[in-house]
Amino acid sequence: MKLAQPVPILRMLDESKAREFYVGFLGFSIDWEHRFADDAPLYMQISRDGCVIHLSEHYGDSTPGGALRIEADDVDALNRELLEKHYKYANPGVQDTPWRTREMSIKDPFGNRLVFSQPRPLPESSAVLIRDERMSAVGETARWVAANRALETELADPLYRDPFARELAGDTGFSMMSVMRGALGVPDTPNPDMYLTIRTRFFDDAVLRAARESSMAQVVILAAGMDTRAFRLDWPDHVVLFEVDRNDVFEHKESVLHRHDARATCDRRIVRADLAAPWTDALVAAGFDPARPAAVLVEGLLMYLDEAAAHRLFNALNILRPDSWLGLDAVNTAMLTSSFTANYLKKLAEAGCPWLFGIDDPVQWLAGHGWQATVVTPGTPEANYGRWPFPVAPAVMAGMPRAYFATARRE
Ligand code: SAM
Repeated sequence: MKLAQPVPILRMLDESKAREFYVGFLGFSIDWEHRFADDAPLYMQISRDGCVIHLSEHYGDSTPGGALRIEADDVDALNRELLEKHYKYANPGVQDTPWRTREMSIKDPFGNRLVFSQPRPLPESSAVLIRDERMSAVGETARWVAANRALETELADPLYRDPFARELAGDTGFSMMSVMRGALGVPDTPNPDMYLTIRTRFFDDAVLRAARESSMAQVVILAAGMDTRAFRLDWPDHVVLFEVDRNDVFEHKESVLHRHDARATCDRRIVRADLAAPWTDALVAAGFDPARPAAVLVEGLLMYLDEAAAHRLFNALNILRPDSWLGLDAVNTAMLTSSFTANYLKKLAEAGCPWLFGIDDPVQWLAGHGWQATVVTPGTPEANYGRWPFPVAPAVMAGMPRAYFATARRE
């Protein structure tokens, strides 16, 4: 199912005042008008530059005093245009808000408030990306996540401990973290990012639970990057854990683990493969048995694939037998298109690892690939761990960039 953006209905009390304000002053056009009879109340649609509003004189259609937030790409230009009209009932100003927007608020003649809002550009961060020429840009993102695990590990009361994370991240990982924090406008402090920390802990718990409760003896971590769950977690006996990622990632990872003489707590096998191309033969060659159920983790990957590659990846998972388990994180499409995330997305693209793919309805998307999913939003009680102090935006808020975690069973 697809639901469109809602059209707000604002109450007008006087037709000529409404025309004077919305058409004469704000520059909207009238798309259509409707009344049941010549002496009946007016209902009309007005629009300007893609913004559609319904105005109604009907007694039952809302009360005056509503508020609309309208995203605009140049609030100052709109402000200049309006001031030149010398409308005698409004002389709007423009303000910077603490939530990093530039806003112009105007009341219509009936007490409805229209807030035209534009995201404010962030100050340029001085952080510079330190590249590792031996690695692909998307491979380097794994070192950024490892940098976060290092910061979490070094807290007094960490949600998990990853003794290899600091070295796996290296300068490349920490610099990428700083650059991306700069792009988001968040302070570059020694504290970990709450989203990444919650994600790691959530999937630590989820995959371990799947392995223990379902006696799953095969675990597959796709796009494993610098993931060290094979060493950190207390796996049940006989678990074979497959890590799949590209060669450049394992070149760095294995050398660090070797230097530490790291010992896995399971039978760890690495599979060097490109997940955008056929890869299951390599998994089977490493000892994976498709006849037995498996727990599969797809963490921090899907946004880096294009839509066709994402579908191919999930078609390849058709080798899994029923009762297999899946853990996955994803972003929605608003994350890729919203002006609030534009700076972040631009920096990712400049770094050579653009985000390409989002899913708006993960339950439906996963059902289409044979998985029955439960979706959790970071910050809700199931994925909070005392680390998410903000309210969680309701799922019904259209156009809101969001990320989520899904766990699923194969049907
Ligand atoms: N899952 C790890 C974690 O959460 O720490 C790593 C996530 S990291 C953000 C993205 C990972 O996706 C990198 O390790 C990268 O190499 C891997 N990746 C992206 N595209 C890939 C592809 N086509 N084939 C294999 N791995 C890929």
